[in-house]
Amino acid sequence: MNAADRYCHWCDATTEELELIDIIGGETGAGWGLHACPPCVQREELVPLNQRPASASTSLSGTPEGRR
Ligand SMILES: [Zn+2]
Repeated sequence: MNAADRYCHWCDATTEELELIDIIGGETGAGWGLHACPPCVQREELVPLNQRPASASTSLSGTPEGRR
C-alpha cells in the first residue's frame, strides 16, 4: 500500500490533480485526507481546504448551530 495513493473520494477516479477537501480525525493523530478531482469539486461545489478561511475549519457535515 502506498500512502501516496490518490483517488477521488466522490467518484473513485485516480488522478494527480486532486484537491484536498477535508481532513478527518486529524486531532487524534493520523488524519485521513478527503480528496476530490476537479470535476467533482465543481459538481459538488466543494471548497478545497487551502482555499477556505481559517475560521471555517468545520468538517463537511458540521452544523455551526449545533456547535455553540
Ligand atoms: Zn471525482
